[in-house]
Amino acid sequence: MRLDKFLSHMGYGTRNEVKNIIKNGWVTIEGKTIKKADHQVKEDQIVYVDNTPVSYIQYEYYILNKPAGYVSATEDNVHPTIMELIPSIRKDLYPVGRLDIDTEGLLLVCNDGQLTHDLLSPKKHVQKKYYVEFEGTLPENAVEIFNQPMDLDDFIAKPSTLEILDTNKAYLTISEGKFHQVKRMFQKVGCEVTYLQRVSFGPLELKNLEIGQARVLSPDEIECLK
Ligand code: URA
Repeated sequence: MRLDKFLSHMGYGTRNEVKNIIKNGWVTIEGKTIKKADHQVKEDQIVYVDNTPVSYIQYEYYILNKPAGYVSATEDNVHPTIMELIPSIRKDLYPVGRLDIDTEGLLLVCNDGQLTHDLLSPKKHVQKKYYVEFEGTLPENAVEIFNQPMDLDDFIAKPSTLEILDTNKAYLTISEGKFHQVKRMFQKVGCEVTYLQRVSFGPLELKNLEIGQARVLSPDEIECLK
């Protein structure tokens, strides 16, 4: 791959920024200064930028416990984005799916397009479990209602699993991820969601990840997602 691409993928800036770093003589490979942006580098070669070794990592995967107030996007003009909470300087990472700005919990962030496509594909039926606090009273047969297809006007939500914890607390597991889906499903049965947190996404669980913290997925966790 081209040297400018290698360094840009590793977070050293845009292609133009990286071209300047190279032109200014900051980059060496095997002891030689390389000043050409189109110099070919192998993925297993080590490139030095200002004497700091840089190895090429193709894919990175993070699990984040998203706090409220952050947008699930790579850029936003008004609110902070979840990317500010990811400890990586590379620029090609993005959230896999979205949580509303006021929703907290598990968000996967990566740069693996194939995995993202598979996880978001409706055919894959990835299970997402939410902890829900709500106002209003659930109907007596709420568990059965949620366990049937639910007409939400613009789409029919697939059967879901409701576990009632308390009069105003429950877990809901859904296999889709349509816009405001959980909030709309509770509205449908006359309740208003006041707090929403995603606790699991497929095989991934939040466990004791602190709010606002992100960590790299282990190779086993990545394998389980595939
Ligand atoms: N359902 C919602 O209503 N909001 C979310 O953020 C996720 C699922």
